[in-house]
Amino acid sequence: MLRCEASGADFGERVSFESDVMGCALFTEPRNACHNVSIPPISLNSTRYMCDDKFIAIVPRGECTFSEKAYYCQNAPPPGYSALIVYDERGRSPSPMAGGKYAELVNIPVVMISYACMEDIMNNYSADKGFLVMIKGAPGYYDLVKYLIPFIAVVGFCFLILLIALVVRLCREHREVARSRLSRSGLRKIPTRKFVKGEEPETCPICLDDFVEGEKLRILPCRHAYHCKCVDPWLTKNRKVCPVCKRKVGAHDDSSDSDAERNANSAASRERDPLLRS
Ligand SMILES: [Zn+2]
Ligand SMILES: [Zn+2]
Repeated sequence: MLRCEASGADFGERVSFESDVMGCALFTEPRNACHNVSIPPISLNSTRYMCDDKFIAIVPRGECTFSEKAYYCQNAPPPGYSALIVYDERGRSPSPMAGGKYAELVNIPVVMISYACMEDIMNNYSADKGFLVMIKGAPGYYDLVKYLIPFIAVVGFCFLILLIALVVRLCREHREVARSRLSRSGLRKIPTRKFVKGEEPETCPICLDDFVEGEKLRILPCRHAYHCKCVDPWLTKNRKVCPVCKRKVGAHDDSSDSDAERNANSAASRERDPLLRS
């Protein structure tokens, strides 16, 4: 691909970042395009097909105004030229073009390239060799913002979805962990007693220390006994099962205080209605 720097004109169709005027670059007949011009026949039928009836006039600077050249090019016999590329004199760099005669009648894009670039196009990237020429504006600040905003919106949206998924997942995990632990109210329901010398068992299965007279023990439903200080953190911070036999502790306890409340309420109603007392 060959890229040419080009300058624009203050007449004709505006060339923007979004324009994609494309066609086969051809010299006009007559070359300077200061009178009615024609589209010269192209040697290969396949090339003509490739051009898709879109032709870009390659015209030298001089002898008449830029807008006159553009006017004659756009009004060439059908299909006409889709755009005009003026090439500057040898050794000069392209400059912006001002409109003159017919300027307001021109509706095709007009740009100027250097002589060297024209030579490169017509010798190495010509229509005969199967190349097309495209005229496109460099992206301006407006284009950048216009493309950046949707990009940021899409990225932001994806980020939001990711964040929501993460929060949902964290909540679910937290709930599951909470469900597997025993609540404070659930713990209070598990009986305790003071150790009396001579009782069985004599050792705490967690710390493997012998129970001492008067120590507070927690007796799980499976009859396994532990130090309160040993088993309470296990039940409330780890899992609500007996560390030895894995039997569930507080199976019917939903590990919530609302449950305890409900039990208290039913106890109260039993009290009020003696018939319900079991
Ligand atoms: Zn212990
Ligand atoms: Zn047990």
